[in-house]
Amino acid sequence: MIQKYNFHCPKCRHHLNQNQDIVLKTIRTNGDLGKISLSTTVGNYSFEHEPKVQFEDGELVTFACTSCDFELNSDEFENYARLIMAVDENIEFDILFSRRAGIQKTYLVTEDGIETYSGT
Ligand SMILES: [Zn+2]
Repeated sequence: MIQKYNFHCPKCRHHLNQNQDIVLKTIRTNGDLGKISLSTTVGNYSFEHEPKVQFEDGELVTFACTSCDFELNSDEFENYARLIMAVDENIEFDILFSRRAGIQKTYLVTEDGIETYSGT
């Protein structure tokens, strides 16, 4: 199972980890801005959001880098956000996670293929 690694913005390489979390900006479909803390454990979908909100079921949330405001939408999979996950200095993977509220899916793109994680 994937343990705790470092996550980076694909644009500016900003280190997105804060303590045990990945911290990102959020842009809701209604334009509201916020900040989300996601677990760094792949497959753990608990999160905290400021301000406290109830996302609409199926709402497409846009995630953005806290440093450069780059929107992390994947080019290939528009309903997914993409981050860089660094295993060590030489090995990095793309990690994709669902932007739709309530859909708990994560894809890890490695040289061996794509691993899928789903919420329980
Ligand atoms: Zn950035």
